[in-house]
Amino acid sequence: MVQRVAIIGAGSSGLASIKCCLDEGLEPTCFERSDDIGGLWRFAETAEAGRFSVYRSVITNTSKEMSCFSDFPFPEDFPNYLHHSRLLEYFRMYAEHFSLLKYICFKTTVRSVRKHPDFSTTGQWDIVMETNGKVASAIFDAVMVCSGHYGDPHLPLDSFPGLKKHFKGQYLHSWEYKDSASFQGKRVLVLGAGNSGGDIAVELSRVAAQVFLSTRSGTWVASRISDHGFPLDMIFTTRFNNCVESFLPSAVMHQLKLKKFRAWFDHANYGLIPQKSPNLMLIVNDELPSCILCGAVVVKPNVLEFTENAAAFEDGTVEENIDVVVFATGYTFSFPFLEESVRSVCRSKFSLYKYIFPPSLEKPTLAVVGLLELTGSIMAGSELQARWVTRVFKGLNRLPPANRLMADIAKKKQHLIKQGLSSKESKIKTNYIGYMDEIASCVGVKPNVLLLFLMDPKLALEVFFGPCTPCQYRLTGPGKWVGARNTILNQWHRTLKPLRTRVIDDSSNRSSVFQWLRVLGLPALLCASLLICKYSPQLWFPRVRLGASPICKMGFMKGGL
Ligand code: NAP
Repeated sequence: MVQRVAIIGAGSSGLASIKCCLDEGLEPTCFERSDDIGGLWRFAETAEAGRFSVYRSVITNTSKEMSCFSDFPFPEDFPNYLHHSRLLEYFRMYAEHFSLLKYICFKTTVRSVRKHPDFSTTGQWDIVMETNGKVASAIFDAVMVCSGHYGDPHLPLDSFPGLKKHFKGQYLHSWEYKDSASFQGKRVLVLGAGNSGGDIAVELSRVAAQVFLSTRSGTWVASRISDHGFPLDMIFTTRFNNCVESFLPSAVMHQLKLKKFRAWFDHANYGLIPQKSPNLMLIVNDELPSCILCGAVVVKPNVLEFTENAAAFEDGTVEENIDVVVFATGYTFSFPFLEESVRSVCRSKFSLYKYIFPPSLEKPTLAVVGLLELTGSIMAGSELQARWVTRVFKGLNRLPPANRLMADIAKKKQHLIKQGLSSKESKIKTNYIGYMDEIASCVGVKPNVLLLFLMDPKLALEVFFGPCTPCQYRLTGPGKWVGARNTILNQWHRTLKPLRTRVIDDSSNRSSVFQWLRVLGLPALLCASLLICKYSPQLWFPRVRLGASPICKMGFMKGGL
């Protein structure tokens, strides 16, 4: 029976894993290489080899309501999107509140994780770790790998002829980038338009002589600020929207998304329009379009080659006098401490059962937590994974037999191939609500919305039409939290709280009525319309020829009727 659990890493996934172990009565020991918690989100002045590194100005791109641990909301006065220092503050509050620190061995590096000789009967692991040069070993009943996947910079120097041989300027990876101080007056080429590339290009454009942003595939850009100033993810990541998305043909959904993206700015005019699937690449950046509009950032295609001081691009253009190239080309990951038989499986999240469990272990006593790219908060996803994993370890939830795990993995890979996406494309983002509900079903904590409409309609309205916050997975089942209902009902209040720093009249009441009308009324109307369109179109368009209706023109009814 599993009792002692080794947790590798004390970032957000590691902290959640310690807490979940404690909730299930397991004994966690967390090994953290550095001297503090926070992982990726703990800023350091210089990048250290093998450690995560963020830049000084980085701000989350998912909002506080959507990113919190499910039974520990952010303080209501925290801003909606958080600077790394505020997020770290929150982690410290979480660790303190649940007394997690005493389970962490700091400055301890895990060197190896190997199956114990009796693994097939006990499922145990031999772990070797090093603290201040001293090597020790111990046997654990189970292992949670929470060491993150942004530690190894991907620096594709060989993909750019002339860079190493001819280019005389400086180059660095975004992993090394801290701030714009040393870029004053320089001509900078940022390679890669992911979230890092977008942020760095915008920041540098304030001090550099010129910034070029080169993108190979293009990207959609969304603002953190959505309709009426509410956080983007709170407005769009709703069960209602998810229903509409699964209900509508994907071509129609594609068109609706394009329309939404174009409403802010035309991505083709700004040189950013993606060449591949619309779901593949979306970055969150509030200022990039404005920087492009003002000429402070100039978008370029992929680089063909470098000469001594210039970059030649695929469209035949050349930019001379490039001083610095910033490779914002992403990250790779590895788990060097795992024994080869397990490490080879963990090279891709798509080879793991529900991105967590290596499928062919005789005992399910090793799990990877947080190896995720979601269309919502990774923190929330990791915490839910940890809840499931600890219950599997404890024997409260069971995994299907290995052949079914393999079949599930194969089916998902097949689905990707069908969509034209290779399973190697690590940045494919999985649908947030779909994934959360899938894991929640395994744990037994997926809210039953229909039942909720009968039992608690006020809450059900928020759960269905409002943002799908992590607290929704604390309403029922194991780990049910008594504060979840209130947290959900007060989410809009907590969103507005840090903004209400200059209240001049009582228009707040009016605006909250409008907010409700907008959040609930319009989607409900749309929902009803779609259902009518699908099942009784003549009710909606009694005398109108279907093909000529405005809704048909918008593409809503394509295929379905
Ligand atoms: P990323 O999302 O992997 O983006 C890397 C970019 O580099 C892509 O645009 C990719 O282009 C390009 N690239 C890679 N190899 C290339 C090559 N050989 N030639 C040309 N282009 C190449 O990496 P990231 O932006 O560093 O982000 C890493 C993770 O951190 C992501 O999950 C991101 O969301 C997160 N992040 C979050 C924040 C925030 O919360 N504010 C900020 C920064 C990063 P293709 O699309 O053509 O492959």
